Amino acid sequence: MKEGPFPPAARRFAAVGFSEIVKVRNRVLELLAAGHRVWRFEGGEPYMPTPRPIKDAMTAALAKNETRYAPSSGVPELLAAIVEKVRNRNGIPADDGSAIVVNGGMHGLFSAFATLLDPGDEVLMFSPYWTPITDVVIYHGASPVLVGAERARREGLTAALAAAKTPRTKLLYWNSPVNPTGEVFSRAEVEEVCAFVRENGLAMISDEAYEDLIYEGEGHVSPACFPGMFERTISVFTLSKTYSMTGWRAGYVIVPKRWRVAMKTIVLYSINGVSTPTQWAALEALRLPDTFLREAKAGYRRRRDALVSGLRAAGFELETPRAALYLFPKVPASLGEDSRAAARILLDSARVATVPGLVFGPEGEGHLRFSFSVEEDTIAGGVEALKSFAATPA
Ligand code: PMP
Repeated sequence: MKEGPFPPAARRFAAVGFSEIVKVRNRVLELLAAGHRVWRFEGGEPYMPTPRPIKDAMTAALAKNETRYAPSSGVPELLAAIVEKVRNRNGIPADDGSAIVVNGGMHGLFSAFATLLDPGDEVLMFSPYWTPITDVVIYHGASPVLVGAERARREGLTAALAAAKTPRTKLLYWNSPVNPTGEVFSRAEVEEVCAFVRENGLAMISDEAYEDLIYEGEGHVSPACFPGMFERTISVFTLSKTYSMTGWRAGYVIVPKRWRVAMKTIVLYSINGVSTPTQWAALEALRLPDTFLREAKAGYRRRRDALVSGLRAAGFELETPRAALYLFPKVPASLGEDSRAAARILLDSARVATVPGLVFGPEGEGHLRFSFSVEEDTIAGGVEALKSFAATPA
């Protein structure tokens, strides 16, 4: 029998990339499989395992046969705990129906963009930014419009945003603390950006994945806490980073009434709810005492400081970031400006895996991203490898 042609994948994928961070990881895995020792700084996960009480809550849920469909937007007890948390800790005036449980931050963000974007829309966002965002925007037929964060912060956020805004601008994607730079926008800056969003009739998607990982100075500020902002913001949270739950795939979004039906529809048809036992574990996570986070943060701070001084000693130029899991040093002059080439050389010659800054947008070029959320031995070994590489004549 004659076999007909094969239909291609949907056209909307033509312009959508596939994470370059995954390409780095694949190259690392090849080197490991060939028996090499690799000092791995390319990841973005908490260094410690999921706390025991969270795992126990999952086991208890299984023993109680909490294994059937839950309401597609979330288990009521968890939804109530989420609303209480965002009211008390984030100052968001969330009403009882505003929370939806999602399959991690990535799913929350995807669903938020799906809720708001039409083809042809434009999305304002600061750069460097977390890599998948531009692809998700493009997937929906919309266009990302990048605003260089460093320059905008130096010369004025409102002016920079106003210069990038067009009649097609629908929303602003916001992320603070920032992946990849570890920077935190100040309360005054958040307020200024919120004023711009309100005055221009835009929506905001606020990605607060690192809200709990701020090591000193002013704490986290949620945009939706400012007057009039809850009504035009989808706030996206994840349990991945705060509670070392990257593999559990649990997060939540806070959605104002006008977009709730659309967002619940997307969640229903994409996942029909997060796994029921996972939701009971998530509830336990939200109930953990503060001591867990205090200890975790002491560990992050120690790692950050060790890697900052190690990288400086190995010839890198960088500032100490106040938050998140990453350092974003300049590529040393001896390695040139091209971050992809530099990352490749460091991986092949020093066996140190990093992410080229370019993958976080053009404003990231000339930098490399290192995660400091790694074993302390990795920091020591990686720094030694970088020092010997720097000392080797070209
Ligand atoms: N937002 C940012 C800025 C992130 O860095 C990440 C994870 N790297 C996420 C959202 C999503 O994380 P997850 O899907 O694990 O919740």
